[in-house]
Order: sequence, then C-alpha cells, then structure tokens
Amino acid sequence: MREEERIASVIVDVPTNQTDRPFDYIIPEELKMDVQVGSRVHVPFGRRQLLGYVVSISHHSEVKKLKAIAHVMDVTPPLTPELVRLAHWMAEKYLCPTIMALHAMVPAVLKGKYERVVRLPLSSGVSLKEPQAYPAAARPLLQLLLKKEVIKQDEALKQGGVTEKQLRQWVRAGWFILSDEVSDRITKKKVTWLKPALDRTNLATAIEELPVQAARQREILQFFYEHPAEIPLTSLLTTLELNRSSIKSLVDKGWLVTEEREEKRDPYEGRSFAPSTPLALTAEQQSAFEAIITPLKEYRTHSILLQGVTGSGKTEIYLQAIEQCLQQGREAIVLVPEISLTPQMVSRFKSRFGARVAVLHSGLSNGERYDEWRKIRAGEVEVAIGARSAIFAPFEKIGLVIIDEEHESSYQQEENPRYHAREAALTRAAEHQAVVVLGTATPAVATYFDARVGKYEWVQLHERVHGRPFPPVHIADMREELRQGNRSMFSRTLSEKLTRCVERGEQAVFFLNRRGYSTFVMCRDCGKVVECPNCDISLTYHHTNQSLRCHYCGHEAPVPSSCPDCASEHIRYFGTGTQRVEAELAKRFPGLRVIRMDVDTTSRKGAHERLLTRFGNGEADVLLGTQMIAKGLDFPRVTLVGVIAADTMLRLPHYQAAERTYQLLTQVSGRAGRHEAPGEVVVQTYTPDHYSIELASQYEVESFYREECLTRKTHRYPPFCGLFTLLFSHPDQLVVLKHAQQTVQTFGNKLPEQTQVLGPVPAPIPRIKDRYRMNVMIKCAREEQAQAQVRQLLRSLRPQWEDPQLRVSIEYQQ
Ligand code: ADP
Ligand code: ZN
Ligand code: ZN
Repeated sequence: MREEERIASVIVDVPTNQTDRPFDYIIPEELKMDVQVGSRVHVPFGRRQLLGYVVSISHHSEVKKLKAIAHVMDVTPPLTPELVRLAHWMAEKYLCPTIMALHAMVPAVLKGKYERVVRLPLSSGVSLKEPQAYPAAARPLLQLLLKKEVIKQDEALKQGGVTEKQLRQWVRAGWFILSDEVSDRITKKKVTWLKPALDRTNLATAIEELPVQAARQREILQFFYEHPAEIPLTSLLTTLELNRSSIKSLVDKGWLVTEEREEKRDPYEGRSFAPSTPLALTAEQQSAFEAIITPLKEYRTHSILLQGVTGSGKTEIYLQAIEQCLQQGREAIVLVPEISLTPQMVSRFKSRFGARVAVLHSGLSNGERYDEWRKIRAGEVEVAIGARSAIFAPFEKIGLVIIDEEHESSYQQEENPRYHAREAALTRAAEHQAVVVLGTATPAVATYFDARVGKYEWVQLHERVHGRPFPPVHIADMREELRQGNRSMFSRTLSEKLTRCVERGEQAVFFLNRRGYSTFVMCRDCGKVVECPNCDISLTYHHTNQSLRCHYCGHEAPVPSSCPDCASEHIRYFGTGTQRVEAELAKRFPGLRVIRMDVDTTSRKGAHERLLTRFGNGEADVLLGTQMIAKGLDFPRVTLVGVIAADTMLRLPHYQAAERTYQLLTQVSGRAGRHEAPGEVVVQTYTPDHYSIELASQYEVESFYREECLTRKTHRYPPFCGLFTLLFSHPDQLVVLKHAQQTVQTFGNKLPEQTQVLGPVPAPIPRIKDRYRMNVMIKCAREEQAQAQVRQLLRSLRPQWEDPQLRVSIEYQQ
C-alpha cells in the first residue's frame, strides 16, 4: 500500500482569471512542520517560481505528477486560517482574484517583488563545474559568484562585464543559472549588543593585567564589573564617551563579545505617554458601555451602532470596553480614518494601554509597519489601532472591533479589492464571537437603516460630556447676496464675522469641498441646478462639448441659456478652487494671514502636520482647505468656521451627495464649539432649503435620516437595492465601448428579476492616462440572494474580459 502524501492547495501570485483557483503541490517531507494554512511559499509554476499562499492542506494517496513546494518563506505563517477564509469571502463578495485579497492582508514588504538573479549551479544542488573549465570571459562573473552566491542580473552584467546575450548562452551551457526570486526588501534594523565574556573574578584579574596606559579599556572593563549585564553598543559608547576602537581591542582579546540582534522598531520610541486612568462614566456613557460588555462577556457575536454627538465621550467608552476585553484575555482592533489617526488620538490609547498597543498608519515606513504587524502576529500586543487595513490585524482571539467615524468613505478601498472595512469587521467578528461597535455622530445611511431594522443594536448618546452647547449655524443665502449686488464669493455675514474674529485675535477655518473634477450648472439667482430627469442627480458639465451629461444613465442635454425655473440668465457652471478663494481673500482682506491646505500644499510628507502646527501656533488668521481639514479643527482659538460653498458637495453626481453634505456640515459644526470660547458657523449656499443643509444647521439628526431614506427609497438607491458599478477602461475608445455594451447585452439576456442595467456611460473622468473609461451600473433587489445572483453572473462574464489591455473593476456599493 502506498503511503498518503500531504498536499497543499496554493493560490499563486498571478492575478488573472485562469489562475484564480488553488493549485495542488506535494509538501516535501522536510517542510512538513513548516507548511501550514496561511504559509507563504515558493512553488514551481510553468517555467517560473512563484510566490503563493497555502489555503488548505489535505491527504491524498493519488498524487499523479504533482510538483513539490520549493520552500516556505516565513517561520510563522503570515496569515491565520481565519484570515484565509476571510480572503475567500472577500474574493467572492468583492469579485476580485483571491490573491489580491490575500495580498491586501499582509504588510507591503511581504508582497514580494520579483527580481532576476544569477546563481551558480552549485547552489541549486547540481555540482559545480571545475572553475578552470569555465570560458575565460566568464571567470570574473564566476569569481563574483563564488564570493556572493547570488547577484542581481543587472549587477552581474555590469560587474562581470558581459552582455545579456552572452550570459544567456552560458546559462544554456549550464555554467550559470538565472532565476526570478522574490525579494522581501525587509529592512530589519540591526543593533549590536555587548557583554563581558568573563565572569566578575576574571574581569577583576583582567583589569589588573591591563597596562597602565590602557585607561580607556580599564574604564570599560570597570563598567562591566559594576554592571555585568549586556548593553547595546551605542548606549555604552555614549555613556562612557568612547569611540569604537577601544571596544574593538577588548573584543579582539576575547574579553568582550558582541552580538548582532534584530530590533523591532517602535515608531513611538522616545515619546512618553503619561498613564491615564478610566474616568467615571456619565449615566449615558455607562449604559452604552454596558451594551458593549454584556455580549462581550457572553462571547456572543453582536454589533452595535453607537450614535453619539461629537464630544459625547465615545472614545472614553471605547477605552473602558477595550480594558474589559483585554481582561478576558482577548484582543481588540480599533479603526479610525487615516486623517484622524493623529498623535493626540494615538496617545489616548497609548496612555491607557502602553506597550500593549500597535499602531498601523500610512505615515510609517514599510519596515516600521512590518514591525508593528509582527508584534501583533507574535502576540506581543493586544490592541491594534489603524486605518482601514488594520481590520486584517492577524490576531487570533478578537473580542472587540471598534470602528470610529464609521460613516467615513475612506473605509471602502478605492482599488481592488474594493472591500469595506465595516463588512470585513462583521465577518471577522462572526468567526471570533466578537462585538463590533460602529461609533459616529452621523452614521452612514446604510448603517442607520440597519440599526432601524434591528440588524444592529442602536445606542445613542445625546449629551456632550462637558455640556458645551453646539455652536449656532448661520446660513448665508448666496442667491440673496447676488440680488443685493454682492458678487464676491463671501457673503456679508461671513465677511463681517471674519473681520471681527480677526480683530479679537481669534482664528477662522474656511472649508471648501473640492473633490476635484465635478462641475455643475446652477442658476445664481434661484439656486436651481440642472438635474437628470431619470436619476435625481446633478448633470455634470463637460467643457469639451459644452454639454450636460448624467453619469448614471447617460442622459445628455445642452446647457440652458436661461434658468428653466426663474428664467434668469445668470445660469452657469459652478466650481471653486482653494487657490481662487485664497486670491480673493487676499484682495478683500489686505494683511490677512492665510494658510492654504489642499493636495497641492500637502503632497510632501509631513506637510499636513507642519501646516496644522503653524496654524496652531497662531502663525495665521485663517486656515483654508479642502475636506482634509474637517478633522483638524480642534484648535482652542478657532471661533469661526466658514463653509464657502456647501453646494459643491451637495451637487456631486452621486446618490450619497446629500448624506455626505449632511455629515460634513454636522462634523464641522460639532468641532467648532469644543473649547472655552464660543464658536459659530457660517454655511454659504445657493440651496438653503435643501433638507441636508437645513437639518444639519438645526442639528436635526433623526429628521435628516428619515428624509434621506425616503428619497433613496423613491429613487431606488441603497440601502433599498443592491448596487454594482462596473468601470471599464481601455486605451481604445471604441474597444472599451464595445466591451461595456457587450456586458450590458449579456446581462440583458439573463437579467435576474428586479434587476436594472444602466449605461454604458462615460465615467466621471472619461479619460485618465490615455485610457478611456466607461461605467455600467447594475441595480438589483436588496436581498442577499439577488446580489449573489448578480455576482455569479458577473463572475461568469470574466472570460469575455480577457483582452489584456482591458481593465474592469467592479464596485459593490452600500
Ligand atoms: P467623542 O469621541 O464622542 O467626540 P471624546 O471621547 O473625545 O468624545 O470626549 C470629549 C471630551 O470629554 C474629552 O476631552 C474626554 O476626555 C472627556 N470625557 C469623556 N468622558 C468623560 C467623563 N466620563 N468624565 C469627564 N470627562 C470625560
Ligand atoms: Zn433660476
Ligand atoms: Zn440619469
């Protein structure tokens, strides 16, 4: 009887449709201990060696012609079996190749970059030919390889003085080997440690024996006599003010030994965090806290919408709930939007939990990120804080997942895999019997709806801890300004308030939403915006042919010469950039000091924080910026917040435009009144009676959500339907159109019930980097089953999209 072999199923690192399935490999005897589900391995694939992940292990007696795993990359598999299951779920849910989902879960340094290298046959097990037998021209390269074993091909060509063609001939003749290898590019930080090789008695003798003039060496030995423990070399050098040479002679004598050790970098090293203790909770906080820890203690999968106004003490509740979780011996993940992952935010957690916290954010170098990640994987920390991708923290006993500001759109990844952290969190929580807390003052409409229908427990905090009132919000009607002859972009209210604010020596924040591209046509007399008759979203103005187009259904219309509602001729496209606002501020308020923050002024690393620090130091009167400053408003001297044009967000061609406007205005207002000096807010708009603006200015939360749900239901948008958007792109305009149309046709033939296909239409940005872009939108019934049907259909279309120049990305929207 033949013995059973252990077989590993491996997802290989080729993100195409044909390879998007597990391939089987034999696990060689010597790797049996190391290959586990979640291991990163090297496998032969065609003529190459590829990186892959083991997704399952089985036993077979029939193993016809299977190849074997070449080697295992890590001692500890980077992924747990649970994360491997999550990757399968992501691939299914977000229609991406499984390898992409797997890659999304590991730090960048593990993603493997292939590099062509040269080796000698020696290192691959074949015996080395006699060096004398090598052709003379190949000898320099041979010499190099005898010393270094592996050399990148580029270097080999340069240093060995050969051409690629020649090298290939030698490879064919068996003198050298070429292979593609994965380089981890892991920049591990090495630290040299020093310790005495002698015990104290022998140290004493050694000190005696040293010649008189060796004062330095005596000092060092004396130090170790008094402190016999090991010490990092650099610390010793600074403590004793030495240079390396005196150490070296003692090491050469064999009295001291050095050891190179890998150090895990702590990005917060050197900063101290004053320990903080739990605060006595208010009654509202206490009941929210109990709502979280009750299911936690019962190991019950549960999710909670914690809807609390800004300043209601949500973070304190998180901290105390995490403490409970850690006491159970379980771990916690805290997600915050990248933009609010500020040092202040991090220090609140570090102060409470000290070194038990790992922080993952994009400001870290790849190496630092990897180190933080390894602390999690090794179980050295119990709390992980980070932006979206921290949801993949490789913990094995999760008790609590907190998503702060859960409504933020940055929780959805904009490229493949287009996962949403909230959904990944719910999926992980189900595996761990964990509790998910979605915290926010302004839930996503989808979350609000799910809380209403009982999918989440709904806990609300109505009061601010310090009882400070919310600042009054004044709405400046820009139509009225125009009627009064004010053609500037600043209303009289805002101008006056700004002047007084600066006179008092206080500061203002001016906020301008400008998500780049979109311009719309609006009547400046009545605020009328030209909308699509089918889709209830603004039509977008296209400079090229001066027309209006709907980005959902493709409806086209000419730009009207007068307003269809009031017949005014002041109807034109609208869109304002930060630079224009800055210029106008300079013109109208001479001497005003302005700091502008937008993508242009913050592209360099650290610029964002530097500008905020300068503003905090009082180096400017006004901070002017795009949505990136909405979170940066926590400055005690800011007493005025101006929203320059609420309409630019409201008129984005997106069904979530009203939701985003409401959330933004609420957030901006909530931030303004956190300090001693009372604040106020001015919102400028041409549509003062739009419900999102009106209700935000009155702090009418519930009414807004009711109204918005009604609108979504009427026009059939999520959460009242399932919505998929497909983005096709291709260098050839006709080809991309053909593919998009074909897809729509295929769908038309197999349309599941209640499914609507819209488009194809040019994408909001119709061409990027010489690729033409088209959108197709698919609306289906809300039920999971209907959505699964659409997914299956989409998956079956993949073979149609094999054109190597074509890219199709599918977004599943909430
Ligand atoms: P949120 O996250 O809801 O905006 P925070 O947690 O930031 O609110 O709380 C606002 C302020 O109130 C913070 O300065 C916090 O330290 C303080 N705070 C929170 N809870 C309490 C409490 N129970 N007693 C005293 N101060 C509190
Ligand atoms: Zn009008
Ligand atoms: Zn339309």
